[in-house]
Amino acid sequence: MKLPSVVKIYCPYCKTHTEHEVEKVKKRKASELKQGQRRFRRVMAGYRGFPRAKPEGREKPTRRIALRFRCKKCKKAHQRPGRRAKRFELVGG
Ligand SMILES: [Zn+2]
Repeated sequence: MKLPSVVKIYCPYCKTHTEHEVEKVKKRKASELKQGQRRFRRVMAGYRGFPRAKPEGREKPTRRIALRFRCKKCKKAHQRPGRRAKRFELVGG
């Protein structure tokens, strides 16, 4: 899937359509202070093993791509639910 790197969409902060820069949301390392990570460490520390079961069946052929849109006017960013695509590319400058 190809998407332009600048799109004109609705900005929830300006409450109007403005130009937005598109960027892919990268997965960052989980913070050790977050509740989910603390719970994970606590469960892993005991005698029981990994807290989540291994996923059954085949691997999905596509991944959901998360996108972040940054408004050029107010510089605030918002995310939208991603689309599924095998490959993803941002086109243009
Ligand atoms: Zn805005």
